Amino acid sequence: MKKISHLGIAVKDLAASEALFSKLLGDEHVHHEIVEDQGVSIASFKIGESIIELTAPTRDDSAIAKFIAKRGEGIHHLALEVDDVKSELERLKKEGIGLIDESPKEGAHDMLIAFLHPKSTNGVLIELCQKK
Ligand code: ZN
Repeated sequence: MKKISHLGIAVKDLAASEALFSKLLGDEHVHHEIVEDQGVSIASFKIGESIIELTAPTRDDSAIAKFIAKRGEGIHHLALEVDDVKSELERLKKEGIGLIDESPKEGAHDMLIAFLHPKSTNGVLIELCQKK
């Protein structure tokens, strides 16, 4: 593990939340992205080394839409940057950690990502990510 890459926050209305977080954080480093594969629309705020990622659903059957329906808006995931997602998944699987993604997928910020199962990690949804 290299560092905390970003913190993901689930929001219903991206434009409204972006306006709010612009007031909180300043809006000079906002980056927008849609990850169709994950069914999410993202606004990322860069704060020094760290990123806060506002994540809204683009369709009702996306994981983030289901999360919001079940638990409401709020902190959604913690992303940890690693050198090699694939080898980390193999290592964690051997350690008995449950995986949502058995292999890396395309994520935001031109990274490969994979999620671990929150049942294995004290209820925290953890994303591993690797710069391509
Ligand atoms: Zn993320």
